[in-house]
Amino acid sequence: MARTVLKFGGTSVADLDRIANVADIVAARAAAGEQMAVVVSAMSGETNKLVALAEGAAGKDLPRKLFDDEYDVVVASGEQVTAGLLALALRKRGLRARSWLGWQLRLKTNKSHGKARIMGFDDSHLPDSVDAGEIAVIAGFQGVTDDDRVTTLGRGGSDTSAVAVAAALNAKVCDIYTDVDGVYTTDPRIVPKARRIDKISFEEMLEMASLGAKVLQTRSVEMAMNHNVPVRVLSSFVKPGEPNPGTLVCSEEEIVEKQVVSGVAYSRDEAKVTLYGMPDKPGVSARIFSALAQAGINVDMIVQANARGPDRANMVFTCTDRDSPFARETLEKMKDEIGFESMDVTRDVSKVSIIGVGMKSHTGVAETMFRALSEKNINISVISTSEIKISVLIDAPYTELAVRALHTAFGLDAE
Ligand code: ASP
Ligand code: MG
Repeated sequence: MARTVLKFGGTSVADLDRIANVADIVAARAAAGEQMAVVVSAMSGETNKLVALAEGAAGKDLPRKLFDDEYDVVVASGEQVTAGLLALALRKRGLRARSWLGWQLRLKTNKSHGKARIMGFDDSHLPDSVDAGEIAVIAGFQGVTDDDRVTTLGRGGSDTSAVAVAAALNAKVCDIYTDVDGVYTTDPRIVPKARRIDKISFEEMLEMASLGAKVLQTRSVEMAMNHNVPVRVLSSFVKPGEPNPGTLVCSEEEIVEKQVVSGVAYSRDEAKVTLYGMPDKPGVSARIFSALAQAGINVDMIVQANARGPDRANMVFTCTDRDSPFARETLEKMKDEIGFESMDVTRDVSKVSIIGVGMKSHTGVAETMFRALSEKNINISVISTSEIKISVLIDAPYTELAVRALHTAFGLDAE
């Protein structure tokens, strides 16, 4: 029989009524003959409360390495509560169900507490239980290390739990139930004419997720792509019986009608760092970026160009706005060693991107993008591209205008 994995996020299990609603959805699918594992998040707001409690108990001065493992013990409890509650609600409906915590599943992770990575399942009894017709209700977001310590997978991590379970069970689909009815061509709060996307490729979704579309945790999409698990994003708020097609995230081959541009994403958490008058010789960039990497700063766009003077170059790169003071501090310390003339950090910038697999085989996409922006008098300060996306850095106050202009220019507006 076909196995499926369902996942319900925080707003879908926010209180006992919402949990009852989830139990009804699961019961209806069980009646249709599906064998299921159901992954749940903490009730909405719970994780934030638990984070605050852990931080409060530890105070400001406790070193990270004395904090992170017990932080995981505290925040993982949110999912434990929901898993037990949903198992009870299913039993109340006459179904066979039991809860599973990360350690019971033997969902092994590395030891990076607070943002652990899944290594795999170690001899889990989960498949037998599911095959025996018992509904497995799984606490998302949590795992266990080889030395039996509880870990969590980073905020939003129960998406990744769900995909990992789906891969392990060889499920035909992983349905992620949430509070929106799918993935949209862009943020509907900015563009009311944004449309729900029927099908999107893993690659495109990965770009959308990492460029700021918050529907799925980026790692979950990476994992779905690596294991070729189709993921469907759909709403838990649609009444049973009403259409709820959602968005299917799947491999590119399964998408017949490939869009040139599938979506427009944006991110405001950006800053631009410019180094003027660096010596133009081998090894300089390596030194700059290794220092930034050591400081834990993730660098995104990078552009280097000759400066006007001889043997001098200017370097521009972007990082998150949050990291930009650390980037400044790190580079300031190296000023003499590197020998740049001056540095400028601009924090009021944002990144707007267009994404689409069709770009691989179409020309003129960049031209359309740049023309649409120039018609609105929006200045582009940095450009970066990959096979399936073009990103531009612009002044933050123009973000909405740019997103709207691009959404229209690429024919994404709903009629
Ligand atoms: N409860 C966790 C969080 O709020 C994990 C999740 O919901 O995916 O980040
Ligand atoms: Mg989420």
